[in-house]
Amino acid sequence: MAARLTILASGSAGNSALVECDGERWLIDLGLEPKELDARLAKVDADWSQIRGVLVTHRHSDHWTPKSLSRCWTSRVPVFCHRDHAAAFRIGCPDFADLERGRLFRPFVGERSITISANWQCRPFRVRHDGGATFGFRFESPQSAFAYAADLGCWDRGLLERLIDVELLALEFNHDPDSLRQSRRPPWLVNRILGDEGHLSNAQACELVGEVLKQSSVDRLRQLVLLHISRECNSADLAAATARTALAQFGSEANVFAAEQQEPSPWFVIGESFAVDRVIQPVSLVQATLF
Ligand SMILES: [Zn+2]
Ligand SMILES: [Zn+2]
Repeated sequence: MAARLTILASGSAGNSALVECDGERWLIDLGLEPKELDARLAKVDADWSQIRGVLVTHRHSDHWTPKSLSRCWTSRVPVFCHRDHAAAFRIGCPDFADLERGRLFRPFVGERSITISANWQCRPFRVRHDGGATFGFRFESPQSAFAYAADLGCWDRGLLERLIDVELLALEFNHDPDSLRQSRRPPWLVNRILGDEGHLSNAQACELVGEVLKQSSVDRLRQLVLLHISRECNSADLAAATARTALAQFGSEANVFAAEQQEPSPWFVIGESFAVDRVIQPVSLVQATLF
């Protein structure tokens, strides 16, 4: 019944995560080139022959590449994405037509569950972002749940409800607004990132985590994974410190891990003891110096 999650890569240079439910392995996003994705999979003792499907959040180029999508065709791995993603995939990836002909294009609809394994379902939920139709995913078994939400500009009550009572929450902590405003980025880009269809700031993410804690059973949340941390306008240290302060305000002892661009995270176990994860905290502080 247990599930595991590892973040293979997170950030504007590429995003991918590997989920394992009842031994069935699924990828979330394909934002690395095949060679690099293979290398990251090997680091967590996985390979393409084990992948049962790929779930795609949205069509921005840090979440898929034409060659990695082609890899789904050559490996005969079904791609689960929204219908609105298909137009971009058809233009960008010559093999996508084969995926469609081979019935490996499996369009999903928001809120309609996808069967992941014997005990686990995945429910895609829509988030606000300027990448067209964009989704987060809530994975649920009769006993447990975890959620993944990267690339969102804001949150509302509907999104909050999708994140209640999860044991693990992987959530975007993209930027520190002051660092963003002081950066050398052009005003249009700053405004885009700060906007409701852009990316979630540390403070916005913390507010959401606070509400999740308020609405969830006591001590239900055990692991918070910070995603899509901006290298220029944030740091793993700052994002993690902000997250820990927010958790402490609500009396939560959940672990915090800042996912990296260059290295896979450890496996996070859901539905079993989190004792292993408790040793992660000092490691994340060491790794934070890489940003
Ligand atoms: Zn995006
Ligand atoms: Zn992104």
